[in-house]
Amino acid sequence: MTVSFGLPMHKRLLKSLILALLLTGCGGSGTSHQGVAHYLDAIRNDPALLALFVKGMPKGGDIHSHLVGVPYAESYLRWAADDGACIDITTWQILAAPCADGSLPVAEVIADQTLYDQAIDGLSMRNFPLEPPRYGHDHFFATFSRFGLISATHKPEMLAEAATRAAADQTDYLELLITLQGDGLSQLIDQLPWTGDLATDYQTYVAGVRSLLAAGEAEITDLVTRQRAILGCEQVPAPPACAVSIRFIQQANRTSSNQWVFASLIFGAEMGARGAVLGVDLVSPEDHPNALAHYGQHMAMLAFLRGKYPGLKISLHAGELTGNLVAPSELSFHISQAVRIAGANRLAHGVSLKHEPDWQGLVADMANQGVGLSILLTSNAQVLGVTGGDHPFLTYLDAGVPVMLGTDDQGISRSSHTEEFIRAIQDYGLTWDEVKRLVRTSLEQSFAPGGSLWRSFGAQPEPEPVAACEGQALGEAPSAVCQTYLSANDKAAEQWRLEGRLRRFESRYW
Ligand SMILES: [Zn+2]
Repeated sequence: MTVSFGLPMHKRLLKSLILALLLTGCGGSGTSHQGVAHYLDAIRNDPALLALFVKGMPKGGDIHSHLVGVPYAESYLRWAADDGACIDITTWQILAAPCADGSLPVAEVIADQTLYDQAIDGLSMRNFPLEPPRYGHDHFFATFSRFGLISATHKPEMLAEAATRAAADQTDYLELLITLQGDGLSQLIDQLPWTGDLATDYQTYVAGVRSLLAAGEAEITDLVTRQRAILGCEQVPAPPACAVSIRFIQQANRTSSNQWVFASLIFGAEMGARGAVLGVDLVSPEDHPNALAHYGQHMAMLAFLRGKYPGLKISLHAGELTGNLVAPSELSFHISQAVRIAGANRLAHGVSLKHEPDWQGLVADMANQGVGLSILLTSNAQVLGVTGGDHPFLTYLDAGVPVMLGTDDQGISRSSHTEEFIRAIQDYGLTWDEVKRLVRTSLEQSFAPGGSLWRSFGAQPEPEPVAACEGQALGEAPSAVCQTYLSANDKAAEQWRLEGRLRRFESRYW
């Protein structure tokens, strides 16, 4: 602790600002990039100034976020009250009216401070004790079914909340995990056999899956239309949330039957081929008995579909495991199979890395092949009890694996994209170069269609733009040639927007 902690707040603030000004050179030689780097170093131990800095910092994309995990419990309770729903005051399961014994109308619960607080705790990680060896896995995953009645029927409101929270975090791009056509897939799957021969089962399933595609596209259109109406995007000026780009990844529930998983993945691959979604992912607890029993089968399904759909993009939850959760035999292969068998384009979690016998070869492969990893620090702290040096974040970062920070389920975790960056900077001492790289990587690793703005993202701090946009002030008005490229490549356009925001942000510190 330094003497500055004993100073009144305004004097500490002044001291930090003077230090930052001295470090930025006060008009001497240097760049705005160096200025912001020095400023971050000067304020990194001041929580108030660090929070202000990170809050205003452009963050690119949050490409690992579950739509059902975005809303805070307060939102779910409000929507449940609007619907006249009930809630069990022991299990905190939201239930359809009429209220059975042991449950009350949600509106009554909201009106009672004690019950309201208990309901929020029951529907989120608020007040959940995390002191070692406690970890929140069971409570965390239990919340999803408790608000399931409401999350199934309020997707436009949830999407509006996702965009609003992203805009508040200065996050311009979201890839949200979602189950589209859940009912249609359920009805289809009831009639499907399972032989285990993937080529045979694919032929049996694909016609039925294709019959759901038009409805899947209509579902997205309806969802986005209603979300934009809720946000008031027709107003001038429109709220900032309307400028957040939102795309979807179809999820398959790995705790379900093989029929469900395979049909859901085929549906995602078909929707991806039509440009309606970006790709597929497997969700729900990786340590669920069914997920463990069929892990290899699920990887084989993805490898098969990659052959059928060469453009298929795969994001996978892999390595959300610890020795507390599963037997040792389960810890040694999930990440490597996701990379080497399923051929995932990117992963999320990766926490169990060092239980893999050849983890050094694995991270080298990920770095060489550009297989990215969404780092989910708050989720891992709450669900797995893994924090600080126990988390392999820096191992991936130092090995050159493309890493980015995601929120996973910010409503349940009661976190935000801003909080993820604050945690990363505080716990891992990240420099501005490293933070900026995380931000840029989030878009480079996104599944947004089209080519990148970068010729080679490589390992250098400042990547080189493609020829069409070379030699220009990135993020400012593009030349005609560059504009043509940006118009044809959504990913590059998102990156161009980010570069403009980064440039303006850095210039504040010069
Ligand atoms: Zn996740």
